[in-house]
Amino acid sequence: MKLRLTKHFEFQMAHALTGYDGKCQNIHGHNYKLLVTVEGTPIADSHSAKQGMVMDFGTLKELVEEVIINKVDHALVVNKHSTFATLKDTKLLTVPFQPTSENLLLWFAEMLGDHLQGDVHLHALRLYETDSSCAELICD
Ligand SMILES: [Zn+2]
Repeated sequence: MKLRLTKHFEFQMAHALTGYDGKCQNIHGHNYKLLVTVEGTPIADSHSAKQGMVMDFGTLKELVEEVIINKVDHALVVNKHSTFATLKDTKLLTVPFQPTSENLLLWFAEMLGDHLQGDVHLHALRLYETDSSCAELICD
């Protein structure tokens, strides 16, 4: 039997889409919402205090905050070819891709990488750029 857990995270991040033919070429920010869904088999050991858990929600929270949220929260993320890539005195992250929601999801999945242990694996990531715009990555 497989079960899935989802935890919600929020962070503020600025980005700019290099060469984009619209207002998103300018530096602007979003209140992103990230939903992380993992899948695994519940702990069967009836003597374990965690019997029935796929993963401790607290462990999932710490992991995602450590490897993703702390890195991108209040950062400016731009393509390495952007004219903004040389800005100083800011939390600047330059990436080899256009920082769209879709690409950010692939990047976040890569960040989580092998951090999930045992038979627990990443099932999906959903990223809300606004309340009405969401990108989704299904990993299996
Ligand atoms: Zn944007």
